[in-house]
Amino acid sequence: MSLRLYNSLTRRVEPFAPLDPGRVTMYVCGPTVYHYVHIGNARPYVVFGLLARLLRRRYPQVIYARNITDVDDKINAAAVAAGVPIAAVTDRYAAAFREDMAKLGADAPDVEPAATAHIGEIIAMCEALIASGHAYAAEGHVLFNVASFPDYGRLSGRSTGELLAGARVEVAPYKKNPADFVLWKPSTPELPGWDSPWGRGRPGWHIECSAMAAAHLGDTIDIHAGGVDLVCPHHENEIAQSTCAHGGKTFARFWLHNGMLTFEGRKMSKSLGNVLQLHELLQKHPPEVLRFLLLKAHYRQPLDWSDAALKQARATLDGWYGVLRDLAGVDPAFGDAANEVEAALCDDLNTPEAFAALARRADEARRAVSPEAQRNAKGALLACGRWLGLLQQDPEAWFRQRAGADIDSAKVESLIEARRAARAARDFARADAIREELAAMGVAIEDGPQGTRWRVATRQAG
Ligand code: AMP
Ligand code: ZN
Repeated sequence: MSLRLYNSLTRRVEPFAPLDPGRVTMYVCGPTVYHYVHIGNARPYVVFGLLARLLRRRYPQVIYARNITDVDDKINAAAVAAGVPIAAVTDRYAAAFREDMAKLGADAPDVEPAATAHIGEIIAMCEALIASGHAYAAEGHVLFNVASFPDYGRLSGRSTGELLAGARVEVAPYKKNPADFVLWKPSTPELPGWDSPWGRGRPGWHIECSAMAAAHLGDTIDIHAGGVDLVCPHHENEIAQSTCAHGGKTFARFWLHNGMLTFEGRKMSKSLGNVLQLHELLQKHPPEVLRFLLLKAHYRQPLDWSDAALKQARATLDGWYGVLRDLAGVDPAFGDAANEVEAALCDDLNTPEAFAALARRADEARRAVSPEAQRNAKGALLACGRWLGLLQQDPEAWFRQRAGADIDSAKVESLIEARRAARAARDFARADAIREELAAMGVAIEDGPQGTRWRVATRQAG
C-alpha cells in the first residue's frame, strides 16, 4: 500500500517517500492563541493529525511539529484590552486549545514549539538573511527583499505583480519594494519586545514558522501543511525565508492544504464574524460528532457546517453504535478488515472512501447471524472505526451522553425499575406516566429481549 499525497507545489498527487525513512518530518502551522479557536481552525489539526497517525504506522520515527503562535498583533491587542501581559492571554488559550484538541481526538504533535521560545533562532535567521543579501534593516525593521528570490510566488502560481495586486500589502517608506515583507519590527515600550541588533522589537509572523521548523525538524522537511488560506502570503514567505537562509536548500518537499470550512456559504473566520467556537460546540455536542463531520468530507474540499449536517452525523453514529450495542455480548475477532480504511487513507487521505468502508462494515455487522460472523463483523467495525478515531466508546455510554446537561443516571435507573414493577403489576397507566417523565428528562427508552435500555433522546441540533 503506497502512500500518495496531493502536493500543492506540483499540483499533482505524488507517491510520498520521505527524505530519510528513519526520521519523517512534518510541520503544521498552529493557531494564534488570542481567543478560543473556531471549528474551522480545528480542521487542519484533525485532518493532518490523521496523516501523522498514518505516517507513524508506516515509519519508525515521525516528528510532527505543531506550533503555537504566541506573539502577534492580535494577541497584543487582546492583552492591552484586558490589561494583562500577553502570556496571560496566550497561556490561557493555548491550554484551552490543547484540551479541545484532545477531546476531538486530534493526534498530538511530538513537539509544540512556541514562537516566544525561539526569539534567538528568529534573530539568527534574520541575520543570516541580511548577510546573504536577502534581507535588509531599515528604521528598526528587518525586511525580506522579495526581488532577491526569483522563485517567489511558485507555490501559489502567481507572479510578484499578481501577488501585490491580490494582497493588501503595506506600502511603507522603509520598504525598498512594496512586496518586501517584515521579518522583524520595532516595539513601543507598551508592546512586548526583545533586544535585537535592530533595537527592541518583535518578530513578524512568517519568520516564526521558518525558525521553528528549522530548529525542530531541520533545513529540509518532508511535509508542511496548513489551511489553503495560508498559501499566500504566509507559506510563500516561509519558503522564501527558509530557502534563502539555508543556501537554496528545498524547504518543504510536500505542501498539503486543507479546504476551508464554511458556514452559511462563507468562509468561517473571526474577521467575518461568522464563527462557531469549538469550545462552545464541544459543550453542546459529543466530540465524536464534530470529529465525524470534520473528517467526512475530503480534506481538500470545502466543508459547509450546518445544524442539519450535525444532526445527520449524530444519527449515523447512533446507527453504528446501535449495531455495536446489539452485539454487546459478542467477543470481537480482529482480522485485516481495517486494511480497507488504511488503503483509502493512503490515497491522499480519502476519508469519504474510508467512511464508505465503515458503513459497509456496519451493514455486515447488522446482518450477521452466526456467532462467528458476528465476532468477525464486530471486530471489523471496531478496527475500521479505530483508524478514524470513531466508535471506541462503550455503546451504552454513547447513548447516555448528553454534552452540557448531565442526566442523573441513578434516577433514570430507578424510574425504569419502577416502570418495570408497574408493568408487572399491570398498572399500565403508571408505567406510561413514568415513560412520560423520562421523556421529559430527555431520556428515550426501548424495551427489548435484554430488558429496558435507555439513551439520551435525539435533540434538536443547535
Ligand atoms: P490561524 O490561527 O488563523 O492562523 O488559523 C489556524 C489554522 O486554521 C490555519 O491552518 C488556517 O489555515 C486554518 N483555518 C482558518 N480558518 C479556517 C477555515 N474556515 N476552515 C478551515 N481551516 C481554517
Ligand atoms: Zn506557518
